[in-house]
Amino acid sequence: MPFTSIMKLSTYLHFLRHALWMKMDRRHRVPLTMNLHVSGACSNRCLYCVLDNDNSTDLSLDLIKTVLHEAWSMGGRRVNLTGGEPLLRDDLAEIVHYAKDRGFFVSLATCGARAQDQVEALRAVDRVMLSLDGPREIHDELCGPGSFEALQQGIDVFETQGVSYWTTTVLTKLNIPHIDWIVGHARSHDIQANFVLLLMQREPVPLRLPSAGEVAEILPDDGEIRAAVKQLMQLKRAGAPIGSSMPYLKQLLEWPDYSDATSPKLSRHYRCVAHQATCELLSDGMLYSCVSVPGCSAGVSVSEHGFAKAFTRLPEIENCRSCAISCQLESNLIFSLNTKTIWNWMRLIGK
Ligand code: SF4
Ligand code: SF4
Repeated sequence: MPFTSIMKLSTYLHFLRHALWMKMDRRHRVPLTMNLHVSGACSNRCLYCVLDNDNSTDLSLDLIKTVLHEAWSMGGRRVNLTGGEPLLRDDLAEIVHYAKDRGFFVSLATCGARAQDQVEALRAVDRVMLSLDGPREIHDELCGPGSFEALQQGIDVFETQGVSYWTTTVLTKLNIPHIDWIVGHARSHDIQANFVLLLMQREPVPLRLPSAGEVAEILPDDGEIRAAVKQLMQLKRAGAPIGSSMPYLKQLLEWPDYSDATSPKLSRHYRCVAHQATCELLSDGMLYSCVSVPGCSAGVSVSEHGFAKAFTRLPEIENCRSCAISCQLESNLIFSLNTKTIWNWMRLIGK
């Protein structure tokens, strides 16, 4: 079966068993998938990112190993290494090997800079998610001068070293007109292009996001977003290499108000599993069920309590039941056993 070539069949069955259990029992909790912010700094300066490079903190290697060990023992099977920029860590290969040796499916989000120094780590990662925001001049405008050149060098490293990668694009006013270029880029490199909405902060959330004022110049309006999502759906229907699942794109299209990516309203199509199946460890050592929920400031310190205790202490999220946030929405669809979303990812991960 081709889809088992990267993620093991036993991992799919593990996810399925726990998703069914979670459906029947809201109290059943396992950190099946985790976002691990291994670095608080980044070499890019994206207009939609409010990372504080001057005051960044990194998780220690010992803490990361403890977290991975405990998460695996509790049933965790997927870890996404993110930041900041994970490739800035000199000990990245040790982190990736440690996670792979336990048996995790490891993905890694990067802007591509420093790829040539991280070949050992990158080759061991199951899927690299590379930020690509458009053709050179658009990407440089959105992510900082020289960022496209760094990304291009990263792609060269990936392709010569056999690193498996896809792209992720944050939809903005500047790059929506270039969707065809981005999808064409994916087609010519035989990879998948993924698309996410630009997130803003209306109220304080654990992961600091820009306010509408900070991204006013690149913020697409409602009509531009809906037209872009419709275009992506048409392209995907026509067989274009778009990773984002069709149920996810449909949910984006049906989202009532893009200025607020979260809602207390239940979705007819999925249940939020953030409290049960997913968690996010920020680079300051604070663990959350979800970092995008206004008012959800109740993180738990992993340095203080250890991962296992911190995870079990995470409070249930009460004020958020649906969202238009890419990873969270795709995870919610998968763990709510949405068959089209599951098939989309099983098929593409195995390619
Ligand atoms: S690449 Fe990611 S972490 Fe770095 S500045 Fe851009 S959005 Fe922020
Ligand atoms: S609905 Fe989305 S944003 Fe809200 S708690 Fe769940 S995963 Fe997080």
